[in-house]
Amino acid sequence: MKLTLNSAVTEVELSGIRQFTYLVRDTPGACALTIGEPDLDTPEHIRAQAKAALDAGDTHYPPGNGYPYLLEAISRFEAQAHGLHYAPQEIIATVGATEALFVSFSTILNPGDEVIIPTPAFGLYDALVRLRGGVPVALPTEDNHFQIDPAALQAAITPKTKAIILNSPNNPTGCVYTKETLDGVHEVLRDKPIFVLCDDVYRAMVYGTEFHSFAEYQDMRDRIIVIQSFSKPYAMTGWRLGYCMADAPILDRIQVFHQYAVTSIPSFVQRACVTALETPTDDVCALFQKRRDYVYGRLKAMGLSVEEPQGAFYMFIDIRPFGMDSTTFCTRMLKEGLVGLIPGVHFGTEGFMRLSYCYSDADLKEGLDRIERFIKTL
Ligand code: PMP
Repeated sequence: MKLTLNSAVTEVELSGIRQFTYLVRDTPGACALTIGEPDLDTPEHIRAQAKAALDAGDTHYPPGNGYPYLLEAISRFEAQAHGLHYAPQEIIATVGATEALFVSFSTILNPGDEVIIPTPAFGLYDALVRLRGGVPVALPTEDNHFQIDPAALQAAITPKTKAIILNSPNNPTGCVYTKETLDGVHEVLRDKPIFVLCDDVYRAMVYGTEFHSFAEYQDMRDRIIVIQSFSKPYAMTGWRLGYCMADAPILDRIQVFHQYAVTSIPSFVQRACVTALETPTDDVCALFQKRRDYVYGRLKAMGLSVEEPQGAFYMFIDIRPFGMDSTTFCTRMLKEGLVGLIPGVHFGTEGFMRLSYCYSDADLKEGLDRIERFIKTL
């Protein structure tokens, strides 16, 4: 019997990052610098809230967008800590930033719509756009210090352009868009019917520079969707919690997808989310900054070409001088040098590889020693 599936889903592959991560995991003796999540456990006082909620019987269907107390806490937090003003009715608590992105793209895209994705980029964007029948349009940034060039953006826009995704601090480069970059992007987009998805999930990890979100350009509020996550700042990746915020008419439609896909996030995690928002993130930020300094110093001392990242916990290393594509380079480094990094091709950019510094000092030292030994053999 011949069965036909949705053509989009037959064409989209499973995450290349995950596949390479499994290859590293299954290589005996290999040291991994691949993973994109903090090597910390969720703080005890946040976990305690979830346990208490379960014991108190908070086990029934909650309201679809989240309990009102959670939406109010998010609204307050965004205004006080980040100067973003969204009413509780303009917020949906989602299953991670991943669901927030999925329902956002689902709400705005029709088949054939183009979405501009500055590359290198987190692979999820390309996959989600394709799953919705959209067309990803890469906007390369590797020759502009990973900042968006407004003229290049202007040139990438066509009558079919429906949206752009901005991810700052960036996965995989750690680049933080400067005010100048954002002003330039705003100048190009201000009078165009193009949505801007702001994936700012790493904003708690910014080192020694100012962070600005494109969501600050509130004259474009009718076209902006903000994506947030509890995963990274509070070491809550396994909880699968995030949220999206948008102007009321857009949010009203996003909730349709959210409701029919997941109904709501779980009930008994929502108090814990409020506790998380009250938890300072300075220590986590300082820890990653210290690691950034160490890793950057080591890579430069090896003679490798890498931009100093201003945020997140990744570095995107230029391997073009070695004359190999990123899969060949990373596979050889894994087999011969027993250290695993993710090939840049999985972020849409050849000639680079991504290092994650979500590892202990000892593991980072060991991984970097192995990279150093491997490149000396080339
Ligand atoms: N956006 C970016 C840029 C990410 O790197 C990730 C996770 N790696 C996500 C979104 C998804 O995060 P969540 O765990 O909240 O689904």
